[in-house]
Amino acid sequence: MCGITGYIGFREAYPVIIKGLQRLEYRGYDSAGVMLYDGKNINLAKTKGKVSDLQEKVKQEISNQGQIGLGHTRWATHGIPNDINSHPHVSQSGDLVIVHNGIIENYDSIKQELISRGYSFKSDTDTEVLINLIQEVKEKYQVKLGKAVQLALKQVIGAYAIAVFDKTKPDEIVVGRLGSPIAIGVGEDYKEFFVASDASPFIEYTKDAIYLEDEEMAIIKKGREVKVRKIKDDSEIDPDILELELNLEQIEKGGYEHFMLKEIHEQPRAITDTFRGRLLMDQAIIKMAGVEDNMKKFLNADRIIIVACGTSWHAGLVAEYIFEEFARIPVEVEYASEFRYRNPVITEKDVLIAISQSGETADTLAAIKLAKEKGAFVFGVCNVVGSSIARETHAGAYTHAGPEIGVASTKAFTTQITVLSLMALRLARAKGTMSSSVYRLHLQEMEMIPQKIEKLLAIDEQVKGIAKKYLLSTNCLYLGRGYNFPVALEGALKLKEISYIHAEGYPAAEMKHGPIALIDDRMPVVVIATNKGHYEKVVSNIQEIKSRNGKIIAVVTEGDTTVKDIADHTIEIPETEEAFSPLLTTIPLQLLSYHIAVMRDCNVDQPRNLAKSVTVE
Ligand code: GLU
Repeated sequence: MCGITGYIGFREAYPVIIKGLQRLEYRGYDSAGVMLYDGKNINLAKTKGKVSDLQEKVKQEISNQGQIGLGHTRWATHGIPNDINSHPHVSQSGDLVIVHNGIIENYDSIKQELISRGYSFKSDTDTEVLINLIQEVKEKYQVKLGKAVQLALKQVIGAYAIAVFDKTKPDEIVVGRLGSPIAIGVGEDYKEFFVASDASPFIEYTKDAIYLEDEEMAIIKKGREVKVRKIKDDSEIDPDILELELNLEQIEKGGYEHFMLKEIHEQPRAITDTFRGRLLMDQAIIKMAGVEDNMKKFLNADRIIIVACGTSWHAGLVAEYIFEEFARIPVEVEYASEFRYRNPVITEKDVLIAISQSGETADTLAAIKLAKEKGAFVFGVCNVVGSSIARETHAGAYTHAGPEIGVASTKAFTTQITVLSLMALRLARAKGTMSSSVYRLHLQEMEMIPQKIEKLLAIDEQVKGIAKKYLLSTNCLYLGRGYNFPVALEGALKLKEISYIHAEGYPAAEMKHGPIALIDDRMPVVVIATNKGHYEKVVSNIQEIKSRNGKIIAVVTEGDTTVKDIADHTIEIPETEEAFSPLLTTIPLQLLSYHIAVMRDCNVDQPRNLAKSVTVE
C-alpha cells in the first residue's frame, strides 16, 4: 500500500512528483507529503488528506523549487493518519529523508534501542524508526548513505520499498525493496531518474525502467548508470532495463467521470485483449503457453488449490465451478491470508493457482512461497506485467486488462474469470472430459462475450433509476446459486466498498438458514436468476422474499417473464452458456454499486480505508 515517487535530474521536481502522486493515489490516500531539495535546504510539506490537500499546503508553506525530491501518498499501518505521521520522515540529525511503503515488523525493539541511545521520535510510525536506524549506522561506521542503508536493512524484519535522500550528499537517491514494488525510470543518457511504486508516474518522460527484485537496492546518481546490489551480501547486479508498453492514455480517465466507470466500460475491450493469441477461433483451439508448457503438471495434479484475496478470491470461486465442471479436477479455493498460516497439506502433486490484479498482494505472495517450498507447481494469474507474482511463480497467464486504477476492481475480475475459463476449457480438451463438439460450442460462446457485454452496458440508465430508489438503504442482500453465487459475493463487496452500505452475499438456498430473518419492506435483495442454472429453485427463493415484503432486484436472462411478474425490478442479460454467465451478471451489479455510491456522494475511485494493492499482511 502507499505510493512512492522520487525525482533527480534537470527538471523542477515538484510537478513531476505531484503528478506522480496523483497517479499513485489509488494505492493509499489518507495522507500525502513531499520533500524538495533546493540546493541548500530540505523543504518539507506533509498533511493528512489527499494529494490536493498537499498541493494547497505546499502553496502556503514551502518553496516548491528544486531538482531533487521525494513524494509519498500513505495508507497508514503504524500511527493514525495525521500530519506528523505522514511521510517523508526526517532523521534526528535533519540530514536524512525517507519515504516508505510497507511495515517494519521489528520496529519497536529497534526503537527502544535507539531511545536508549538518545534518539527521540516525533511520529508513531515504523518508518521514522528506520530512518533513524540508517542515521545511527551511518554515523557509527562512518559510511556513505548506500552502505548505511544496506547495513540498516539487514537488521530489519518486514516489508519495504524505500527511497532515501541525504542532504550531506545531495546528488543521489538510494532505494531498496523487500516485498513492496519499486521501479526506477531511467532518463536519456542518465541525465535524470524517476523512482515510483509503479511506472505510471514517469511514463511520459521515459519508457526505460528497472524493476528492483526483492532484497535488492540501488544507488541512483545523476549522470551515472544505476548501481544495483544485493542487500544481503552487497554483490553487484547487472540490472535489466525493460522497455515499457504502458501509454499515457491508458492511465487517464478518457472522458469518464470516474476510473471505475471507465473500467466497467472497458470490459469488452479488456476481455478481447485477454483472448488475443489464446482463443484461436479459426483453428478452434485455445493456446496458452503457460499451460501448454506445463500440461503434464496440470493433468497429473491431484487437485488445484486457488489462493487469492478479495475480488480475486471471488474469481477463484467462479473458477472452482468451471474447472470441476469442465476438466473434472478437484479444486479448493483458499483465502491466501488463512492458507499461509495454517500449515496446509500441500504435496508435489498439487497445482497452486495464485490470482492477484496487482501481482503484489502480500498474503498471496507468501502463499506462493509456501507452496513452492512444499514442491507444488505454482501458476500465477495477474494483471500487472513484471509484478512480483509474475516473477515468483513457475508459469502463469496475464489478464491483459490494462491498468486498473479504480480501487474497486471491475475489469480485473472479469478478465481473471476469462483467463481461468480458457484454462479450464484447454484442460478439459487435454483430459478428454469435454467432447470436441461441446468444446467448439463453448469457444464460440466465449468469443461472443465481449459483444454481449457491450450490448449489456446499455442498461446503465435503467440501473441508475434503480440506484435512485435504494440509495438510502442501510443493508442489502445479494443472492445467487452455482456459478452466480460468487457473483453475489462480489456484488455485495462492490456495494460495501464504495457506498459503505452493509451488504451480504449468500448462496440463494442458504437464505432460509439465517438471512431471511433480516428481510422486511426496507431490505433490497439482489437476486441473480439466470434461466439455465437452478432457475426454478431461485424463483422459489424470490417468492419467499416477496412473501416477506422484501424489495427484489432480479438479474434475469432476456425474455424472462416469470421473475418479471414477481420482482420489483428486473435487469436483463443476454443469453449465454451458464458457466460464462458470471461475465455478464456481474456487469449490472458493478453499475448498481457505482451509481448508488455516486448518488451518496462517496469517493468512488478512492473509497475510505481501502487501497488498491494490498502489499501489507
Ligand atoms: N508503515 C508505514 C506507515 O504507517 C508505511 C505505510 C504505507 O505503506 O503507506 O506510515
